[in-house]
Amino acid sequence: MPAQCYICSGKAVFKRPKNSQAICKECFFEKFEKEIHETIINNKIFAKGDKVAIGASGGKDSTVLAYVLNKLNQQYKYEIQLVLLSIDEGINGYRDDSLETVKRNEIEYNLPLKILSYKDLYGWTMDEIVKEIGLKNNCTFCGVFRRQALDRGAMMLDCNKVVTGHNADDIAETVIMNVLRGDVARLRRCMAIMTGSEGTLPRCKPFKYTYEKEIVMYAYFKRLDYFSTECSYSPNAYRGNARAYIKDLERIRPSSILDIIYSGESLSFKDDVKMPTQGKCSRCEYVCSQPICKACVLLEGLNKGLPKYGIGKHHKKNKQQHQHSTSETSY
Ligand code: SF4
Ligand code: ZN
Repeated sequence: MPAQCYICSGKAVFKRPKNSQAICKECFFEKFEKEIHETIINNKIFAKGDKVAIGASGGKDSTVLAYVLNKLNQQYKYEIQLVLLSIDEGINGYRDDSLETVKRNEIEYNLPLKILSYKDLYGWTMDEIVKEIGLKNNCTFCGVFRRQALDRGAMMLDCNKVVTGHNADDIAETVIMNVLRGDVARLRRCMAIMTGSEGTLPRCKPFKYTYEKEIVMYAYFKRLDYFSTECSYSPNAYRGNARAYIKDLERIRPSSILDIIYSGESLSFKDDVKMPTQGKCSRCEYVCSQPICKACVLLEGLNKGLPKYGIGKHHKKNKQQHQHSTSETSY
């Protein structure tokens, strides 16, 4: 264990995963928060008077995000209003437990909380969807529904921005996945620290450059109350492989995660990337690049008892749409 903090020469408690420098607890807190503050300022993520919905799942990322944003808002006087917005996918034994964590955070951080369920919005819980479709494409349904649900919830709360806890590891994974798919349009979207087009709320990722390991350390040293169980429907094989690959690279060279993000940024700055044009879904009016949005296509399949309708090769006609307007992730 390294003995001296590289900043204050006090007793170091660990090496920062990001740069392998030994650091003490207090200096780590300060650095960690300051770097997020700098990301927020450099990218002009907030403006005075913003009402910001924090996508809160009860997991480590969104819990640390809520805690740190609340702290920075007071410390640096952003003058923004923060609210917690949770989406209840209807996954027994997972989401119901993690929502209890968010409810405790609501009280502890003194931030208002709204919970919105798939059942209320779409008439289906994820448990019901999985019964229907099995464990193969469940994350596609869940990701498409969640993305819209967050937008709708934030609009109901009169918010003008949404922030999510996606961290540098998540983004590096998504870069790799999109590079392997050759999907430059989606690569560009996942690289943007702020996304959003007309009709949808800007969605921001203040943790874009924050290492997952550091978020875990921060939550641990601050003794934050978060929920760490994985979703029982989890393994998304493609993302899982990308994740394992990133973790292997990180072990060999910790800077790999940020390097992948920087590479993704320069690749996505190419000017000749065709971005899909946005319109409105003719059924639910959600912003999308096709006549009918992906959520409505998936719902139609579910409601007709044809759950594979709208997915992959069962829906060749809409391949374009599948590529551009959806994701099994929320990017
Ligand atoms: Fe939904 Fe898949 Fe995440 Fe579970 S792992 S919450 S099913 S997206
Ligand atoms: Zn729609």
